Amino acid sequence: MNHLREQMRDKKRIVVKIGSSSLTHRETGDMDYIRMERLVRELSNIRNQGREVILVTSGAIAAGKNALNMKDVRVDSRVESLAVKQACSAVGQARLMMTYQKIFAEYNQVAAQILMTKNTILDNLNRYNAHNTFSELLKLGAIPIVNENDTVATYEIEIGDNDTLSAIVAALVDADLLILLSDIDGLYTDDPRRNPDAEFIGQVDELTDELLEMGKGTTGSSVGTGGMNTKLVAAQIATKSNVDMIIANSRDIGVLHRILDGENEGTLFVAHEDERFDLPVFVGSLHKA
Ligand code: GLU
Repeated sequence: MNHLREQMRDKKRIVVKIGSSSLTHRETGDMDYIRMERLVRELSNIRNQGREVILVTSGAIAAGKNALNMKDVRVDSRVESLAVKQACSAVGQARLMMTYQKIFAEYNQVAAQILMTKNTILDNLNRYNAHNTFSELLKLGAIPIVNENDTVATYEIEIGDNDTLSAIVAALVDADLLILLSDIDGLYTDDPRRNPDAEFIGQVDELTDELLEMGKGTTGSSVGTGGMNTKLVAAQIATKSNVDMIIANSRDIGVLHRILDGENEGTLFVAHEDERFDLPVFVGSLHKA
């Protein structure tokens, strides 16, 4: 067994990110309760192993759209689409949490909600408070469930996607490992959906400029907002903050315990602490073209 993979067995503080496309039915956009249930069971088991778990989950906007019968409604202007997005997330976030609370309670776990924006990181007092809240929740044995506060996050203060958000959370709480569950097996030399010759990359020891450039052209699924590009931004934040990161396919949610058993799943981005990396400065520079 690769010794870096073997080290996964000792990881104590773990952030798991799951995207909307992994939580909803492709055909209808409705919540996939079986997958949510499997996710919660895996996370509860990780907690029961004595590890700390934070879940970063999307799905608020998707859940809200469905609840409000907005699935096929077209929005024409940016202002309108922002208002629609915010209304959908206000409805959907509550639904999402209700479902998580219910399933986590079945496994005897206490779930907590944390909603963040860019300002949570940029403002010193906010960042300090967020850090303390996470620490306290983990100390109390709760499972923090994080999403962007989409109901108030306008373009200027939004992080914009949950790949980046999850890496920010991992850096903020000094996590040992960040796992991005996605609809792709990991990193390839090219987009495998378009290029059959694309090769799988099991481990990235260094995030080279060439690699970062490679991710730029890819887009995500139609449901979430993350493609490979946002995953590579997440990899930069995580690895520079001394957090290992793994991208793995959420097709089988059991991949979570296999990763923590040291199995060779997904792509591992190896942590390399960079003393010069400044989280608030990096977050402040996001979306500034
Ligand atoms: N925060 C958004 C939501 O909960 C999703 C962002 C993303 O998919 O990356 O719907």
